[in-house]
Amino acid sequence: MCEPVVVVVGSVNMDLSVRVHSLPYAGETVSGGALQRGAGGKGANQAVAARRLGARTALIGRVGADEFGSELRGVLRRAEVDDSALTTTDAATGSALVVIDSAGENMITISPGANGTLGPGEITRHAARIAAADALLLQLEVPIAACLAAVRTARAAGVLVVLNAAPLPPDVSPELLELISGTDILIVNEGEAAGLLDAAESAGYRDGMRAGADTRRSELAALPLPAALRALGPREVVVTLGSRGAVYADADGDLDSCAGFIVEAIDAVGAGDAFCAALTVHQVSNRTDLGSAVRYACAAGALATTRRGAQSAAPTGAQIDALLRTATSRRSDYAS
Ligand code: ADP
Repeated sequence: MCEPVVVVVGSVNMDLSVRVHSLPYAGETVSGGALQRGAGGKGANQAVAARRLGARTALIGRVGADEFGSELRGVLRRAEVDDSALTTTDAATGSALVVIDSAGENMITISPGANGTLGPGEITRHAARIAAADALLLQLEVPIAACLAAVRTARAAGVLVVLNAAPLPPDVSPELLELISGTDILIVNEGEAAGLLDAAESAGYRDGMRAGADTRRSELAALPLPAALRALGPREVVVTLGSRGAVYADADGDLDSCAGFIVEAIDAVGAGDAFCAALTVHQVSNRTDLGSAVRYACAAGALATTRRGAQSAAPTGAQIDALLRTATSRRSDYAS
């Protein structure tokens, strides 16, 4: 296949980070190291990671008419991500305020700014681009109404929809359940998986369930996470487990896992984004079973932890292939 085409609908943020000895508690002021500025936002991170793996990638999103906006647009262009559907608006560019302690734990506050103004109208303007793609890749740092419009467009055109349901909003709306049920591949980490199942229950999860499924909440809770999430409607589900790798349920409902690769991890930032991009690119390039794509994505996530930063840590295809040839992985300890 020639270069696969991936359209990302998502966020662009400036990450402002400070390292401190210990995280402040409410009301406390702590002094830290130098302020670091880095290109971030799950949408931009995943777009850059997909491009680095050889996909032709476009990002539909919004930045502000400010210094951060032009800097981040420049970063995307240098990474060869198509920014022609990235609109400049009056709202400030999205920012993430990140505090990291000496043990690597972090606290993050996001000001969505321009990301929060992305609406379905913008998606309609770029509908032809989505319909012509091989895959649509989304996260939840832009309004759900925009994501839903993009998913409906992609589905109508038979485009593969991959949703990284992160970060999980405080309330799970019917729109989010509709988004999830319209997804081909849902990717979440363990915390998001548990949060989604809890929230789906309080939001009347039955409405979002797979047609014909008749699983009670108590039964859902007893299922392994990917199987329980699959009952919410996505065709396939992958739950990432940090250094332990990932577990997944494929289109037939079969469960399996991929153990994490043993690497010298120094910074977990960007691992999840590299994972989602790699899984998407692998699926549209190879169209093989989900298991091969998960293994490729686990290698990408592992490699991303060996370098600092989000976008700068995303690996190339050659680096992933080299790890897959030589790697040792942890024994999978997931009890399904
Ligand atoms: P998120 O950052 O979204 O919470 P995870 O921490 O689960 O996502 O990481 C995503 C993937 O990256 C994991 O499924 C795993 O394959 C890989 N990964 C993350 N941390 C490590 C690590 N310390 N060692 C090896 N692989 C890792």
